[in-house]
Amino acid sequence: MYDVIVLGAGPAGLTAALDTARARMKTLVVAGPMIGGQIAFTYQVDNYPGFYEGITGPELSERFKVHAERFGAVFHDASAIGVDFSGTPYKVMVDDRVLDARSVILAMGMNHKKLGVPGEDRLMGRGVFVCSTCDAALYEDRKVVVVGGGDSAIQEALDLARFASDVTIVHRKGETRACKCLMEKAINEPKIRFQYNTVVTEILGDKRVSGVRLSDLKTGESRVVETDGVLLAIGWEPNTSILRGHVELDEVGFPLTDGVKTGIKGVFVGGDLIDKTYRQVVTSCGSGCAAALEAIHWLEGVSSR
Ligand SMILES: Cc1cc2nc3c(=O)[nH]c(=O)nc-3n(C[C@H](O)[C@H](O)[C@H](O)COP(=O)(O)OP(=O)(O)OC[C@H]3O[C@@H](n4cnc5c(N)ncnc54)[C@H](O)[C@@H]3O)c2cc1C
Repeated sequence: MYDVIVLGAGPAGLTAALDTARARMKTLVVAGPMIGGQIAFTYQVDNYPGFYEGITGPELSERFKVHAERFGAVFHDASAIGVDFSGTPYKVMVDDRVLDARSVILAMGMNHKKLGVPGEDRLMGRGVFVCSTCDAALYEDRKVVVVGGGDSAIQEALDLARFASDVTIVHRKGETRACKCLMEKAINEPKIRFQYNTVVTEILGDKRVSGVRLSDLKTGESRVVETDGVLLAIGWEPNTSILRGHVELDEVGFPLTDGVKTGIKGVFVGGDLIDKTYRQVVTSCGSGCAAALEAIHWLEGVSSR
């Protein structure tokens, strides 16, 4: 029986585990497919306080993990495949085992939607990226292709245009879904161009992105365009499929919460799963810490009854 099982080992889960373990709560982290979470894909994190020279994503991930282990958190390198919060102790299914916990912290983060084209996975973090706030400065005076046509794609293109020399928005439809105010800014930004009715069919490059193959959906014509980066802005989905039927979710799959609290006592959420706006390492650590503090209060309250 664990006091706390943390699902997810990104910045939120690792911070939560550090804080619950430090409070002497027996803590297990079910790490899922990627220890470090999204930052494990990030070459350089330049905006985590204290690391003023920047730190690589994998090194920051390792430091977070070692920090949680220092206080006694234990890791299980597998994904949770099911949960049962219908009664206590709460149950988490991993491999062929059922683990019991008095409290659970959900920090499974997000997955960006993929194009599903050749080169995408291989060049992720090597020119293929998903966050302009995080990576725009790496594209100073470089060319970038932005794939997508919603508000966030246009906003990301505008952010990139402050750095890049040339930003091409590739959208499969004949017009974007973005709001008029953003479109006006993008149209008036000389560095931004639009390629409508066009899809990316391949991302090219050996060690880094060097180009994309585009296909015109109207003419069927295919051509290669040189670029230094490809920003995927086609949406994100929360990793919450295992929660369906157990935790109340919105239509997209985000848990419905009051701060970090779900509707189930003793089950808390942190990180990108409760953040539709900021989604940064530091904000994820913040809500991971808040979820841990709530779990500790909950456990202390239960045990003192
Ligand atoms: C390429 C890239 C670059 C970025 N660069 C920066 C940056 O420079 N600065 C910055 O502040 N932010 C950056 N971000 C954003 C930042 O990484 C995220 O906001 C942050 O990682 C979110 O943390 P999280 O812990 O909520 O979730 P995630 O990081 O998404 O971690 C989710 C965790 O859950 C685990 N998991 C998933 N499914 C299961 C399951 N079924 N069972 C158990 N575990 C599971 C995964 O293995 C992972 O460990 C970047 C994001 C990306 C994608």
